[in-house]
Amino acid sequence: MRPAADDPDMTDDCVFCAIVAGDIPARTVYETDEVLAFLDANPLARGHTLVIPKGHAQHVGDLDPERSRALFDAVSTLTPRVQAAVNADAATVGINDGEAAGQEVPHVHVHLIPRFEGDGGGPIHAVAGDAPTLSEDELDGIAAAIAE
Ligand code: AMP
Repeated sequence: MRPAADDPDMTDDCVFCAIVAGDIPARTVYETDEVLAFLDANPLARGHTLVIPKGHAQHVGDLDPERSRALFDAVSTLTPRVQAAVNADAATVGINDGEAAGQEVPHVHVHLIPRFEGDGGGPIHAVAGDAPTLSEDELDGIAAAIAE
């Protein structure tokens, strides 16, 4: 199931590619041909899990549709499983996509972070900086640029 060490998609210096190749140990919790999930080595909560595509890609936008589907299928399968395993009340599911967003490992990974009532954390709305004040025209322009 694991890609061969000479898989052209793999990068030599990527820690998550090394986990996929079996060169670095990990607490694997789920594996398919396309996807691997394992416990985060520095958990933000009990059960903090990372879900990755096996093939190397830095950004979500680099994933082809097949790999995107496989990744999100795994996320939707695993989120309730992870929650149940640690008796969590909820989960935060997120991707740091790019350095400015806090991405430290340049291999796409989805964080599944179990959440507990009163755990002191915040919603995903807390991760961005100061919220901008945007006019209707600016909002129209942004929507058009995305839709283009
Ligand atoms: P990010 O800041 O989104 O790139 O998060 C990278 C995550 O990878 C961090 O939460 C790290 O704790 C985690 N991490 C780094 N190296 C390993 C590893 N060898 N095994 C498991 N998790 C790791």
